[in-house]
Amino acid sequence: MAGAGAAGFPREVLVEELQCIADVGLWDALRRLKLDVLGTDDSPIPITGYYAPRLFRKLPSFFNLRPESLVPRSHNSIRDRNKCPIAGTLMNTNNMRGFQNLDREQLLKAEVKKILDDIMSGEVEEEPALLLRFVVISFADLKNWKVYYNAAFPSLVFNSKITLLSLQPASKVLTKEEVMFLCTSLLQWIDISAVVPFFLVSITSDSSASVRQLRDWKACKGNYQKLLFGFYDHGCRSDRPGMAIINYIAFLSIRWKIEKVQFFCYREVRGRPDLEQSLIGEASFPPPYGWDDPDYVPDAIGWEGVEPGKGTEEMKPKEIDLQSSNPAIQDEEKQLMHLKLMGWRHFPVDLEKLSRVRVLLLGAGTLGCEVARLLMTWGVRKLTVVDSGSVATPDLVKQSLYIDKDRGVPRVSAIIPHLKERCPAVEVEGIQMEIPVPGHPVSPSKMASVLDECKHLQTLVAANDAVFLLTDTWESRWLPTLLCASENKIAITAVLGCDSYLVMRHGAGPRTCGGTDEVPAQIESLSTEDALSHQRLGCCFCNDAAFLFNSNPNRTLPGLTSVVSGKAVELFARMLHHPDEIHAPGDIAGVETEHQLGLLPHELRGSLPNCVLSMELGISSGNCTACSIAVLSEYRRRGLDFVMQAINYPTYLKDLTGISDLKRPDTCPKMLTSISVNSDKISDVRCLLLGAGTLGCDVARILMDCGVRKLTVVDSGRVVVSNLARQSLYTSDDRGAPKATAIIRHLVERCPSVDAQGFQMEIPMPGHPVSPNEAAGVLQDCKRLKELVASHDAIFLLTDTRESRWLPTLLCTDENKIAITAALGYDSYLVMRHGAGPGIIGEASNVTAVEDKLSTKDALGRQRLGCYFCNDVVAPVDSVSNRTLDQQCTVTRPGLASIASGCAADLFTRMLRHPSGIHAPGEIAGASSGHPLGLLPHQMRGSLSQYNLLTLLGYSSSNCTACSNVVLSEYRRRGMDFVMQVINEPTYLEDLTGLTDLMKSAAYSEVEWVDETDEEDVVEI
Ligand SMILES: [Zn+2]
Ligand SMILES: [Zn+2]
Repeated sequence: MAGAGAAGFPREVLVEELQCIADVGLWDALRRLKLDVLGTDDSPIPITGYYAPRLFRKLPSFFNLRPESLVPRSHNSIRDRNKCPIAGTLMNTNNMRGFQNLDREQLLKAEVKKILDDIMSGEVEEEPALLLRFVVISFADLKNWKVYYNAAFPSLVFNSKITLLSLQPASKVLTKEEVMFLCTSLLQWIDISAVVPFFLVSITSDSSASVRQLRDWKACKGNYQKLLFGFYDHGCRSDRPGMAIINYIAFLSIRWKIEKVQFFCYREVRGRPDLEQSLIGEASFPPPYGWDDPDYVPDAIGWEGVEPGKGTEEMKPKEIDLQSSNPAIQDEEKQLMHLKLMGWRHFPVDLEKLSRVRVLLLGAGTLGCEVARLLMTWGVRKLTVVDSGSVATPDLVKQSLYIDKDRGVPRVSAIIPHLKERCPAVEVEGIQMEIPVPGHPVSPSKMASVLDECKHLQTLVAANDAVFLLTDTWESRWLPTLLCASENKIAITAVLGCDSYLVMRHGAGPRTCGGTDEVPAQIESLSTEDALSHQRLGCCFCNDAAFLFNSNPNRTLPGLTSVVSGKAVELFARMLHHPDEIHAPGDIAGVETEHQLGLLPHELRGSLPNCVLSMELGISSGNCTACSIAVLSEYRRRGLDFVMQAINYPTYLKDLTGISDLKRPDTCPKMLTSISVNSDKISDVRCLLLGAGTLGCDVARILMDCGVRKLTVVDSGRVVVSNLARQSLYTSDDRGAPKATAIIRHLVERCPSVDAQGFQMEIPMPGHPVSPNEAAGVLQDCKRLKELVASHDAIFLLTDTRESRWLPTLLCTDENKIAITAALGYDSYLVMRHGAGPGIIGEASNVTAVEDKLSTKDALGRQRLGCYFCNDVVAPVDSVSNRTLDQQCTVTRPGLASIASGCAADLFTRMLRHPSGIHAPGEIAGASSGHPLGLLPHQMRGSLSQYNLLTLLGYSSSNCTACSNVVLSEYRRRGMDFVMQVINEPTYLEDLTGLTDLMKSAAYSEVEWVDETDEEDVVEI
């Protein structure tokens, strides 16, 4: 062979590395795949990479990953020379820790083992591209729109070495004729055959060259003057072949026993053969040993950026930022991410349907604001709001969207910017209009305008898919109810009483018997059943709901609106996901349901002070003034003439249906007994809110409605787009601002007299060891938190992680401060008040005596109630790093935070008004409390899937990691030294409290504490 024996040969073969270039499009496609399809599944994904053609003679070509790389390979065009396809594997982990922990050496070995198996089995002869497997590992950080990745092109490493005997430009090795013929053959080969990266080149004595498949090797052995093993070489260096040669030579040696290989590094420029850069050479490779053992795994190299012989420990991932191209679309995707994450483990939300559904909101007041916002959180994007009023000063703390500058502005105008600044994608129309009410005669001069309003409402109901009845007067719900029943539209009623509520969906309209299109015939034949032959469910006029109705929203318990809005929107979302939608039968408590969103009741009734929630089912009443067949028939026959008659003649509906009038007394008898609060006193209570996320925003707002005027908020985060959907106070203008600052501004906008301040700070957490240079800062945070707890009267624990509640719990117990915890699971919530701190036995005169004398009772001699950690059998530790995104983010049903916040604020106010305050014993629903304020439970747990509400009572555990006397004594003795030890030593708390021993004992080996983790809200998105 020409060139053999030239200077520098023989020598060890060195190869030119291949560089992987992954398009941003690929990572965006992976992000979607992960979010929409894969969920928590992190199994390997088959992926296709492409050799890109070389564009410049002086640069090597690279290996390309594109959006279509995720599409199975058979779907790709393999004829395209620009995309020589290679099969690979993508491992995308669920979190950063998983990515860091991937065993990179092992992954590479697994790949080379596959290559070796394909060589041995002869698979490579049929599909030579199998020699070029590649591996990509990645972590798609969906929350931050980043991707971290590394790529590897695994090469087999054996105990024998490849020696390069010669290497020269092909144009020097071959004659001019040979070069010419070879070029022609290569061009034909490119045109007619599927692209393969490995092939044979044969040259006969008359210089004619042909290119063949590897599998033809046996047939052409010995028939040619020159037989070269060709491969597509991405490189451009004249002194070394591309990396593909290593596995190629291993194949030729192992499979075909060729010890000396004449190879042809085929190089192209812009898709044309370039024989001046192409190389021809010879290499020898003595057969390695051991490879034929089926269990033999060769060594491997190939991680991009890692020098051969170096470990993978120092590997740095490549980082791709996906935030860029279309901010508007990206923002909308961020807003919907929490709904997509619901699909990972719980329930695939029909985002398409939700974005299409047109919802009409009647009323833009207390309920209207909350319902509109929560509908957007559920992904509803088409809203029409009807209201006749304007924003007034007292509305600002009650009607969650309005701010100071809206005073005097019609609500339907004011609400639009507030909805859009939370969700720019929402299409919202505001219509200022009175809703005509029955039994209120109109003067002849107003007749025409009332008729217009009736017509307008008729059009609006017909044009929408669902109607929410949220007006402040009971009678104004009559006409919409009638129209919805006639048009068979979804209607949801939310009724606020003084302290109790009703949320219901109206039944479907009646089925028409017979098939005639003639109007008069239809009227005669309305069925008592709906179109699916189910018995029709009732409407809000079918029963006694009016008795509940409280027409003075100022006399409704703060917190009730949030609870009711949350339930109304959840009921609606549940109904939309039912195959029968409006026709779905009403579920009652205890019914088994397969559906992941749980039960679909007809009516929900509840009372905050009694801590009860019940599901009821009522069928459409034959006497109903709004949905009965008598009324509907008359309406269908006479249309708006009938409506105008009902408006003008107070007794007309009564005569028609035989039932008494619609109007109910405005008085709210329960209110007289329920309010005994000294409003001066509540405005002096200093509340500390830990967490300014979903719960923090709602709780802060409701507390102001309760009369609280001294608020301090602590949060370490900043507002990001995905927060806007769920965290009720923030708007687009807050992007990037610290939550602790933004929330204060929004609270002041609603109530200028509030004395509010925010602290941007991280709450130190147990089991999160800190480095020596962080220690001083963390210690300072601990001290600051201690001061904050000491200077407030009540502390709300609303943080994102379980472990961040530990230190505040300990501090509250130590200081004997009111502590209220609200925590969200996916569809359940926990609201609890922590027990009082321990009393002291005897009269301790010095500090050391105090330690041993903590009582198991509180200062009033009552058994201490438990804290958030009392039921745990493990100490709080780092709960985030190792989890999948949906676990890291609070994946909760959108209405849940409103409900929990309403309950938390309500529990707090009742506790304040209780004569024993923090020492009040825990009450259980059903027991008569005797107190006019109602029940004061210790814990409330509610679920949306079962629509139940439990009141629970638990006492402080002697093993508790946060409130037990052993922990408290240690804290009192050692102060912040103790806290820092807890932070730095993950097992210290368990050892101290005896949990370690408890866990070892048989009795606790079966403890099912995993359910408890469902109560966690971790990192908010
Ligand atoms: Zn009815
Ligand atoms: Zn406890």
